[in-house]
Amino acid sequence: MTNMGNKVALKIRAKKSRIHGTGVFATSEIENGTRIIEYVGEKISKAESDRRYEKYENIHPRRKDKGRVYLFTLNKRHDIDGDVPYNLAKYINHSCEANCESEIFRGHIWIVATRDISPGEEITYNYGYDYDCCEDHPCYCGSAKCIGFILAKEHWPKLRRKLRNRAVKPNRKA
Ligand SMILES: [Zn+2]
Repeated sequence: MTNMGNKVALKIRAKKSRIHGTGVFATSEIENGTRIIEYVGEKISKAESDRRYEKYENIHPRRKDKGRVYLFTLNKRHDIDGDVPYNLAKYINHSCEANCESEIFRGHIWIVATRDISPGEEITYNYGYDYDCCEDHPCYCGSAKCIGFILAKEHWPKLRRKLRNRAVKPNRKA
């Protein structure tokens, strides 16, 4: 578990990222356990969320990288659509070797530091995508541990097995 301090800091700013489009960067020292920023937006039902997801996907039907969808699971009944101008947290990129994680406190989504972060470092968290759709979302995080797709860590062993099997298949004749 993360150390859930009561500190709320806003020591970040958005600028161009090497990972993807705009990213969010630390402007000063951020201590492990700090709630850095709330992921805010419009609270919507699951049905509305599904409808919007379809709509966003259809904007770029043929693109392998579908770009960004800002829908965030809040609980069993509601999602947050973070595609609003006042949500700075929507610019935070995914990384396979992240320095933050998303946590829900009393109905609010927070991005929380999982280690000490130095000024100038890009803020990242694992988007925690499901296994089924991960191949639609290639990862460009550039970390040494990058698995190649945006995927929740718990599913990494499963994806590794699949990629390994695919790699050996073509030349093998048993
Ligand atoms: Zn990666």
